[in-house]
Amino acid sequence: MTDKRVEGVVLRATPYRENDRILTLLTPDRGVISLYVRGLSKNKPAVLNLTTPLSRAEFVFKKGRSNLYRFLDGTIIDLHLPLRRSYRHLEVAGKILQSILKTQMPGKDSYALYLLLISFLKKLPKAIEPETFWATFQLKLLKHEGLLEIAKNCLSCASAPAMQILDGESRCSQCGGELGFPFKDEEWKTLRNLFDARSFEPLLTLKLSPSLTRGIDACFRSAVML
Ligand SMILES: [Zn+2]
Repeated sequence: MTDKRVEGVVLRATPYRENDRILTLLTPDRGVISLYVRGLSKNKPAVLNLTTPLSRAEFVFKKGRSNLYRFLDGTIIDLHLPLRRSYRHLEVAGKILQSILKTQMPGKDSYALYLLLISFLKKLPKAIEPETFWATFQLKLLKHEGLLEIAKNCLSCASAPAMQILDGESRCSQCGGELGFPFKDEEWKTLRNLFDARSFEPLLTLKLSPSLTRGIDACFRSAVML
């Protein structure tokens, strides 16, 4: 069996037996995959580092006797060290990894999501308000999954301005009724800007209102059924 190579970001590292780990990775072309890492040791710090959550690396592996892939070797691309220096930033990075674990089926094509993840992890340490990055990532992930559409006008009547999210769609207060997640005027504008954001620059210093952050969290949890 020939060795295979894949680039990936470690989403989760589960300790197994005394010196083993099971890694869950997000990869650009194979989606979420698991790798079995055997015989970790302090004498091989590079392997310890690249098998830690948040690490981006190239992994060499082969298919074992079971369906699990066996890790053979790897090369670090980015350990995201600046991210690991601040608890607030690290906490947001952790939520981003968890949200991918919760939404991605193994083997699903994930090239666009992979690019989104590595660009967020790269820019996150520069954010003054890391929570803004978390809110934006949730919106981008729902957009990627086709679970959210944020528009200027209500997607039901197409005439009144949208103010609510109902089942992932933009609604006016009339069409959404009591069931949607309501947002204030100003919040809706910000929501649209985050949803469509193509550059990180405006996000680096932006502070969101607590009610907007709560609204985005609530929409995300209901969409992915957390
Ligand atoms: Zn409407």
